[in-house]
Amino acid sequence: MSHDGYQPTRNNFFDTKIEFLKGVGAQKAALLNQELSIFTYRDLLQHYPFRHEDRTAFHRISQLNENMSSAQIKGRLREWTIVGEGGKKRMVAHFTDGTGILELVWFQGISWFEKNLRPNTEYIVYGKPVNFGGRWSITHPEIDLITQENEQGAGWISIYPLTEKLRRKFIDSKVISKMVRSLLEQAKPYVRETLPENLVQKYRMVTKFDALWNFHIPQNQPWLHQSQRRLKFEELFYNQFRLLKNKLLHKTEFPGMVFGNVILVKDFYAHHIPFKLTDSQLKVLQEIHDDLKTGRQMNRLLHGDVGSGKTIVAFITMLFALDNDAQACLMAPTEILADQHYQGLKKFADLLGINIGKLTGSTKKKDRAVIHEQLLNGSMQIIVGTHALIEDIVQFKNLGLCVIDEQHRFGVAQRSRLWAKNERINPHILVMTATPIPRTLAMTLYGDLDISAITELPAGRKPIKTVHRYDAHRLSVFGFLKDEIAKGRQIYIVYPLIEESEKMDLKDLMDGYESIARAFPDVPVSILHGKMKSQDKDFEMGRFVRAETKIMVATTVIEVGVNVPNASVMVIENAERFGLSQLHQLRGRVGRGAEQSFCILITDYKISKDTKLRIETLCRTNDGFEIAEVDLQLRGPGDITGTQQSGLMDLLISNLSQDTEILKAARISAEAILQDDPELLQPANFPIRNHLANIKKEETNWSRIS
Ligand code: ADP
Ligand code: MG
Repeated sequence: MSHDGYQPTRNNFFDTKIEFLKGVGAQKAALLNQELSIFTYRDLLQHYPFRHEDRTAFHRISQLNENMSSAQIKGRLREWTIVGEGGKKRMVAHFTDGTGILELVWFQGISWFEKNLRPNTEYIVYGKPVNFGGRWSITHPEIDLITQENEQGAGWISIYPLTEKLRRKFIDSKVISKMVRSLLEQAKPYVRETLPENLVQKYRMVTKFDALWNFHIPQNQPWLHQSQRRLKFEELFYNQFRLLKNKLLHKTEFPGMVFGNVILVKDFYAHHIPFKLTDSQLKVLQEIHDDLKTGRQMNRLLHGDVGSGKTIVAFITMLFALDNDAQACLMAPTEILADQHYQGLKKFADLLGINIGKLTGSTKKKDRAVIHEQLLNGSMQIIVGTHALIEDIVQFKNLGLCVIDEQHRFGVAQRSRLWAKNERINPHILVMTATPIPRTLAMTLYGDLDISAITELPAGRKPIKTVHRYDAHRLSVFGFLKDEIAKGRQIYIVYPLIEESEKMDLKDLMDGYESIARAFPDVPVSILHGKMKSQDKDFEMGRFVRAETKIMVATTVIEVGVNVPNASVMVIENAERFGLSQLHQLRGRVGRGAEQSFCILITDYKISKDTKLRIETLCRTNDGFEIAEVDLQLRGPGDITGTQQSGLMDLLISNLSQDTEILKAARISAEAILQDDPELLQPANFPIRNHLANIKKEETNWSRIS
């Protein structure tokens, strides 16, 4: 230990500053701090490799094949030449193991390699082999002199996340591995088991120390696998334990208003509801009503496919509040969505003589004052809005229910600011998402909520027929559109519009509009995009709703637009540029009427494997739950939730698209322990207690730093 007099103890060993680790020192420590946020021993141990490479076996040049993602070859470096000029200049070396010749190619660092490589010397090379016209080569291979250490193969190697700057300072995965090894050697007596013995046994897990050691320094594939499984289990167990503990706390500590009266609900149900609720909607309403009678605060998530009828469920839930002298609010992430919800709910509210308002950033000042007053004196019963609702100036007489339309955008913090709108007794919370959430994601993102799902669409909806067409077949698509228009239908044609390249995309849209106008000279066409003034948007949308125009050329603004049941065809241009869930959302704009609806996905001829899978999935199924699962596989959880604040940040090693089984086991285990010993008083559960305390300590440290 380089620091005089520093004596780690069982309690603070892992808090030791990284500079005190042998071979690190102040300079390297500063780099590790800056580049990787590694400040302490703990941080280094939790700086997990993102990949492991198998360097146990050597390959022969005669056995190479194109499917190998990498090969390790022991042999002799022969002569090299420099060929090409300028950007094509490269160094080509010949390398042989007696079974064939392999070319090693460098485009960069040529002068360094010329100076440092020794011809006619034995080396080990590693990289991805490719074959050009019968000749094998590896570009920018790793190349090492044969030493006693590596001549039998380097074993399994951990590849760590790094930055350019670290590489320039010669801190690479090997250097990190060395640091970790030296730390682990020292740390052995300090590493404590974090899971109860009976869980470790039940799931046949390796110990915490073995898991750490073998994840960083694997001996072989089975050990690597076991260490990974153990660390993932631990991570997911604590993730679930904390969520479930919170949930339990809500259920035991927070009282909720009891909504026993059902007057408006009955009236609405008997006389005004325009359709018969689906079994799934009824089941969800039952779950909600059960919550509202318990005297505990409801915290429930409602998800279901586009068009499954979540709005009416939210509305009836609001009526429960109104029936019991409480008010209700609905908060949406954008103005457009708030407006859409307001329009949807107002239709129902008017039938019952309910005073409903809308409050967003663009509400005029004098209207705002009226709304504030009516909310405070209780004469306004329902308010729909955006973030504007959270502001402190918005006060209620007696807020009893908050419906939050999330789209993964609001965090827990915002949820709790809404709670505070009623200090006497917290309002019930119903969180809605626009589309289904994959199971694993729901468990982690919303693990502290109870979950309701609407799993069927209203009766009589015909499944949308979805097909894939290449650009080149546009004429036949146009022919189909003409026929549909002749039958009296309307059509959406959607173009991608992505913020960064807005100008170019807008040009695509305009070109598209012109070519449509040319192809359909007698058909009135509307155009809609985000850059238009809102009155122009309304005007165009209005013409389309009244069927004065037959084709709507638009960007994704219509994703959340108005409901036009007569529109039965959705054409999506450049479909390769949309995500799977977004395509599904867009498709959901049609299929709302009695006619057979169609969705036509148009792409370039060349598409990637992922795009192909997205398109095949859409053509195969209309089931949003299934689509959400595929989307998770394709994009991973981070991209789907879109935000970093999603609570997935603390998952360092688990992958929600793959670790479904581990997650389930972790959740079941956490549930069982919370049921059996919620206060963690049994000695068997002390490891959990200790570890939770450590997590807390770490978090406090972090919040002080950032
Ligand atoms: P989402 O779940 O996507 O928010 P909405 O609540 O907007 O779906 O409902 C989509 C459409 O289906 C609306 O026009 C709504 O009035 C209608 N709808 C909802 N429930 C039923 C039902 N049980 N039967 C028939 N139509 C329904
Ligand atoms: Mg909706």
